[in-house]
Amino acid sequence: MLPDLERLIRLQEIESKAAVAAKAIAEAPGRIAALDALLHDATAALEAAKHALADSKTRRSLIDKDLAAVQQRQAKYKDQLMQVKTNEEFRAMQHQIDAAATEVGAQEEKILLNMMEVDEINATIKKAEAALKAAQAKVGTERGGIEQDVIVQQAVVIECATARASLIGGLNDKGLVDTFARIAKVRGTAVARAEGERCTVCQVRLRPAVFVNVLKNDQIVQCDSCNRILYFIAPQVPKAPEAPPAP
Ligand SMILES: [Zn+2]
Repeated sequence: MLPDLERLIRLQEIESKAAVAAKAIAEAPGRIAALDALLHDATAALEAAKHALADSKTRRSLIDKDLAAVQQRQAKYKDQLMQVKTNEEFRAMQHQIDAAATEVGAQEEKILLNMMEVDEINATIKKAEAALKAAQAKVGTERGGIEQDVIVQQAVVIECATARASLIGGLNDKGLVDTFARIAKVRGTAVARAEGERCTVCQVRLRPAVFVNVLKNDQIVQCDSCNRILYFIAPQVPKAPEAPPAP
């Protein structure tokens, strides 16, 4: 194979590798921010549930206070009932006692509802605590992994830059660097394998005269359609299964 063609193939491998590494580095802050957001949301959910529990307890103490006041009134009316002189006074007092009993019932109903509410909030807190624990574990593992990967990918970028400089320095035809860069800028990649008279990247059929030249691998040939620099490597023929030993 033409040494420059071999260098360009290698250059493409390096560029692709460097691009993958650069993408990983660029995406790392976003991935870490997403983990931070997960932790933040889980913490906020637990705090909200705890806040709801405190509110519910405050409401409960107000209900208890109201209930005690009604019960006090109820006891007072019952005392007064003993001291009434007339039937009319008795009926009026009895009416007050009935009204107080209704109110006690209403307060007790509120207490029941409050207890159910507390049960629900406690269940929510338990779930929120488990979710926070899971989020902390996930963030703990993944954050370290991302940071570690960034260090690895930064080394890959540096390694690729060194390899790129060495390859470019070794090119016999220095103009090929510009050709490569021009195609890569438009197409993303600058080199393509040809197979079965086609460019395997853009899939366009090559003219027989072009393909014959590509087969030789001894010159720089570009795809008529996508302009990529073409090379040929014979496709690997799968090995035929071995014949069973003769009996
Ligand atoms: Zn092509």
